[in-house]
Amino acid sequence: MARRKQIYEGKAKILFEGPEPGTIIQYFKDDATAFNNQKKAVLEGKGVLNNRISEFVMMGLERIGVPTHFIKRLNMREQLVRHVEIVPLEVVVRNYAAGSISKRLGIEDGVALPRSVIEFYFKNDELGDPLVSEEHITAFNWANPQEIDDMMALALRVNDYLSGLFAGVGIKLVDFKIEFGRQYEGDMMRLIVADEISPDSCRLWDMETGHIMDKDRFRQDLGDVTDAYREVARRLGVLREAESSGQSGPVLVSDNEK
Ligand code: C5P
Repeated sequence: MARRKQIYEGKAKILFEGPEPGTIIQYFKDDATAFNNQKKAVLEGKGVLNNRISEFVMMGLERIGVPTHFIKRLNMREQLVRHVEIVPLEVVVRNYAAGSISKRLGIEDGVALPRSVIEFYFKNDELGDPLVSEEHITAFNWANPQEIDDMMALALRVNDYLSGLFAGVGIKLVDFKIEFGRQYEGDMMRLIVADEISPDSCRLWDMETGHIMDKDRFRQDLGDVTDAYREVARRLGVLREAESSGQSGPVLVSDNEK
């Protein structure tokens, strides 16, 4: 069998050419990076957990009519996704103050925002993904006004879905980042949710204790990063109850057990 072609290697994922035109294989690595690549580590089992959590969330989004790039999971670390042209923006939705908004605007961590706030960041590692306005986005042609409207509407639907999903398992969705891709079908184009949705890209706090269950554990050296991700997966029902309490790494529910 011919070796498959690698298309791109990112910080946490590798993309390979898919089996059919218009498809890509997304491989989840165990690598963790923060502060624009200045902090790095390998967190054993993280890729497996994010693959499953992202699969679960993307399938839920599809069920409520939010289009995503997800087609199917292939194995523990890989999923088949639609090939898209990535919009060079990170779309962040915030429900509570934390992270960069707290710093930038001097708001105490955990304060509920008056309403959900959407922000756009230009995807550019060299520049450290700067916050940009709609003016910048349209002036530099990263997206047109219709696409901005569509991304905002979709981001709010994702926020509603995710907030409810996590609230149901005792987790507060503080904020999250998503990316969009343009999918072309003939001369039609639609925006779909791409990349991943996982504890790497969300802030998740336990509703009762405030325990941090996301990548901030890595950013802030809080330890037990994969344990927290595993607990998120367990609560979502992605991990088998009996074995998820063990420390031997993630035990995942296989398709025929689900
Ligand atoms: O750092 P900041 O507060 O702007 O992050 C907002 C949200 O976006 C957090 O959930 C963070 O994990 C996510 N994010 C991300 N990738 C980035 C920047 C932020 O997933 N490059």
